[in-house]
Amino acid sequence: MTAEVTMTINGEGVASAEVLEVVNPATAEVFAQAPRASESHLNAAVAAAQAALPAWKGLPHAERAALMVAAGDAILANADELAALFTAEQGRPLKQAREEVMGAGMWFKGMARFELPVEVVEDSKRRRVEVHREAIGVVCAIVPWNFPVLLASWKMSHGLLAGNTMVLKPSPFTPLATLRIGEILRDVLPPGVLNVISGGDELGPMMTAHPGFAKISFTGSTATGKRIMASAAQDLKRVTLELGGNDACIVLPDVDLDEVAPQLFMGAFFNTAQVCIATKRLYIHDSIYDALRDKLHALAKTMKVGPGDQSDSVFGPLQNRPQFERVKGIIADAKSRGLTVLDGGPVPDQGYFLPLTLVDNPPEDEVVVKEEAFGPILPLLRYQDIDEVIARANNSEYGLAGAVWSKDIDQAVAVAKRLDTGTVWINQNLQTTPSTPLGGHKHSGIGVENGLEGLLEFTQGKTIFIPKAATG
Ligand code: NAD
Repeated sequence: MTAEVTMTINGEGVASAEVLEVVNPATAEVFAQAPRASESHLNAAVAAAQAALPAWKGLPHAERAALMVAAGDAILANADELAALFTAEQGRPLKQAREEVMGAGMWFKGMARFELPVEVVEDSKRRRVEVHREAIGVVCAIVPWNFPVLLASWKMSHGLLAGNTMVLKPSPFTPLATLRIGEILRDVLPPGVLNVISGGDELGPMMTAHPGFAKISFTGSTATGKRIMASAAQDLKRVTLELGGNDACIVLPDVDLDEVAPQLFMGAFFNTAQVCIATKRLYIHDSIYDALRDKLHALAKTMKVGPGDQSDSVFGPLQNRPQFERVKGIIADAKSRGLTVLDGGPVPDQGYFLPLTLVDNPPEDEVVVKEEAFGPILPLLRYQDIDEVIARANNSEYGLAGAVWSKDIDQAVAVAKRLDTGTVWINQNLQTTPSTPLGGHKHSGIGVENGLEGLLEFTQGKTIFIPKAATG
C-alpha cells in the first residue's frame, strides 16, 4: 500500500520538500511517505487558524455543533479507507482499527450534544451576575501513536465545538490516517478552522514554543508532558495533559475465574498492551492466584498475535522500533534477573512482534512493576489483605485509572473510592464515552477530556455583572 496524503493548511492540501518515512510495523518496512512540516508550514498553519478564529468563534453554538455532527458523519462514511491506512501504519488488526475509526466519528457526534453553560451566580434586585464560557483561541493539539485517530478526534471534537481553531499534529510514527481525516474534513469545515500538519521530532517543541497558540492539548508520555508544561510556562499557555499510567487492577477472591480471565486478559493486552489505561499491574488474591495465573497463561499461549491484515489476528505488533526494543529489553531484563517469566505463544519472525508475556509474582520494586512498560509484559501480583493491596496499588507516581473485580459490588465500590486514580472500573475495563471525563491524578496528567468537564477545558470563563437599572 502507498498513501499520498497532504497536510491541511487553510483548507488547502500542502506537500513538503522533505518527507517522513512511514513504516508498517508488521513488516518493519517503509510503505509510505508523509509530509515533514517546516517552520514556515507551522507559521502558515497558525496564521490560518488565527484568521479563521473570529468567524468560527462568532458562529452560534448550534451551528458549530451541526458541523461537528457533519464531521463525524464524514469520518464514518470513510471508515473502510481510514481503517486500512490505520492498520498499515499502526499495526492493529483491521476490525479493531475500524472500531477506532468508527469511535472517532461517533465521538464528534457525541460531544456535539454538549452546550456551553451560562451560570447565574447572583440574581438580586440590584443585579444579575452570569458566568459565560468562551473559546480560548488557537489550540495546539498533539497526539501519540497508540490510539492516533480516536485521541485526535477527542481534541478536535472538544476544541472546535467550543469555538477554538486548531493546529493538530499526529505522531511521526502514525501520521497517515490523521492527515487523511484533515483532507476529508476540508469539505466540512471552513478553511483554517482545522489545520493538520505532520513532522519529525523537531515539530512538537516548535509548536509548543510558538506564541500564536493560546492552549496546548497534549496526550503522550509523562516525560514529554513535563517538557510541554515547561514550554507553555513561557507565555502562560493553558494546558491539558493526558499522560502515562501504571494502572492497578485488583481481583477479589469471589470472582468467577472462567468468566473474568478473558476480560482481565483483554484489559491488559488489548492493542498489544499499548494503552494508557490498560491494566499494568494485576493484583490477584492469594486464594485464587494460582488458578487465575494458569488461565491467563493459557490465553497468552493461544491468542493469535500476527499482522493486522490477517483476519484471525487478535493482537498486532508493537507500533514502532524504539518501543519494540524497549519492551524486548524489559522482558530480557526480567529473565536475566531470575524472575519467573511465563512466555506467550509464537509470534511472526519479521516485524515488531513480541509474545504476550506474564511475570509470576515479581517483587514490587522490579522495573516490570514500577514502570509503565507500554507493551506486552504484565506482572501478576499476589496479595492477602485488602488494606495491603490498596496501599500497593496507590504506591505509584501515576494515577490514571484502575479496576476492581468482585461479585460484591458494594465492596468493590468501597475499594474504588480508596484508589488514587482519575477513573476506576468495576467488573469492566477500558471503558470511555463522550460523556465520561477521563483524566489522571498525580503524574498522569492535568485536566480531563470528555464530558462537559472536558469541553470546558477548551474554554475560559467570563463573569458579566449586569445591573437591573439602566444607570449605576
Ligand atoms: P510521546 O510523549 O513520546 O509522544 C507523544 C506526542 O508528542 C508525539 O506526537 C510526539 O511527536 C510529540 N512530542 C514528543 N516530544 C515532544 C516535545 N518535546 N514537545 C512537544 N511534542 C513532543 O508519547 P508516545 O510514546 O507517542 O505515547 C505513549 C505514551 O502516551 C504512554 O506513556 C501512554 O501512557 C501515554 N498516553 C496517555 C493517554 C491518556 O489519555 N492519558 C492516552 C494515550 C497514551
